[in-house]
Amino acid sequence: MERVRVRFAPSPTGALHIGGVRTALYNYLFAKKLGGDMILRIEDTDSLRFVAGAEEYIIESLNWLNIKFDEGVGVGGKHAPYRQSERREIYKKYVDILLEKNAAYIAFDTQEELEAKRAQIANFQYDASTRMMMKNTLSLSKEEVENLINSDCNFVVRFKIEPNETVKIFDLIHGEVMVNSSVLDDKVIYKSSDGLPTYHLANVIDDHLMEISHVIRGEEWLPSTPLHVLLYRAFGWTETMPKFAHLPLLLKPNGNGKLSKRDGDQLGFPVFPLNWRDPKTSEISSGYREAGYFPEAIVNFLALLGWNSGTEQEIFSIDELIQLFSFDRVSKSGAKFDYEKAKWFNHKYLQMKSDEKIAEEFNKILVEKNIITDKNTLICIIRLMKERVNFIAELWEQCEFFFVAPTTYDQKALAKRWKENSAQQMIELAEVLKEIDNFLPANTEKIVMNWIAEKNYSIGEVMNVLRIALVGASKGPHLFDIMEIIGKEETLQRIYSAIEIIK
Ligand code: GLU
Repeated sequence: MERVRVRFAPSPTGALHIGGVRTALYNYLFAKKLGGDMILRIEDTDSLRFVAGAEEYIIESLNWLNIKFDEGVGVGGKHAPYRQSERREIYKKYVDILLEKNAAYIAFDTQEELEAKRAQIANFQYDASTRMMMKNTLSLSKEEVENLINSDCNFVVRFKIEPNETVKIFDLIHGEVMVNSSVLDDKVIYKSSDGLPTYHLANVIDDHLMEISHVIRGEEWLPSTPLHVLLYRAFGWTETMPKFAHLPLLLKPNGNGKLSKRDGDQLGFPVFPLNWRDPKTSEISSGYREAGYFPEAIVNFLALLGWNSGTEQEIFSIDELIQLFSFDRVSKSGAKFDYEKAKWFNHKYLQMKSDEKIAEEFNKILVEKNIITDKNTLICIIRLMKERVNFIAELWEQCEFFFVAPTTYDQKALAKRWKENSAQQMIELAEVLKEIDNFLPANTEKIVMNWIAEKNYSIGEVMNVLRIALVGASKGPHLFDIMEIIGKEETLQRIYSAIEIIK
């Protein structure tokens, strides 16, 4: 079998959308499964859409997610350069080949002339039925052409589509797709104004020259593929044409249409891997990294947006994904973006981290808040609390009371729990606690429960009030665990303060 070589070929027109990340991931999984090469090619021939910083952003995003390249921008390789704007000489040669073969022609129509034609003819398309009414090397005399070329005006090269031919595409996900060439227009493949090819031509030439075996890209590119197939034909490269796989769209959470940046803004979730600052508007869009996601969680989440293993399993390591990935389990229809699921994955990956590791990360937040705590205590807190959060940053909200004594108390909880005899009970309880030396939860629990039984108090009443005193609200883990962590002195202190403040 030929060597598997795939490429991720983003255009640096802004932040990399999460759908683009999935495309990169599926390319990576497929290449690694078959021991092939993964190539990063930057498709920057459209100078009008170029956005500064976008290429760096794309590379940083994929780096963060551990999607690695064997060749390409930033890595190098035998087909360098991998940035299309640096390959103009190569493309020029192939434009000339198509012109020589009469598979393409030069067109001089100005924007105004094209617009006038569009206004004049409904559904105007530049193709076999209209090209002879236009200004190009097929319709004009030799002299007229020479004059135009000498006049230094801008021109484009258009690919000449022969009408009424059946173009067959075999897609690894969608199967056979057939298109009649008459629906295609004579696409612009080169512009003299910047001396650069357009996306279609550069994309096909590079896939050929870089020996790409499989083109795996988003479904939005499927309409371009018949043209690409015809370009391969025109160059005589059909034998080595890559196989195609068009990935299903990522849909809005409600399934109605393509997931867009606006959906993220409206529904409050990131659609980009990293924070992105638009250099033109200075607008900041949030990213998964800064929102506190683990890269492995995002990889796992994205892998399952359009692919499934055929089993109930949902948590996959990258090695498992590589091993299991195949196109026959990629769905043909769009995949609904389920943000709750992204959080669920992060929760699962957080639980899989060691308490030490989480403590280390959480400690960074504590240091910012000038809270100094010893490592072992912190690890105990993490063990008690991690099940309750999806993100490390959420630990602060859940754990603040371990580090800072409450000074205010939840009013609702107080109204419900604090009774006339509560203060008295707490004073008595403090006396009991004072006598205990061993503050391990099993011991304090036994002694306190005995005392409650002796006094004939209600366990619920005492414990609820004690919780308000220690935590400030009706929340938190097992009370005796909290008491062990904050210690005897602090426990007594909080009981006395509560009595004082609530009074
Ligand atoms: N440059 C195109 C993009 O931005 C590449 C599409 C393809 O993979 O062929 O997605």
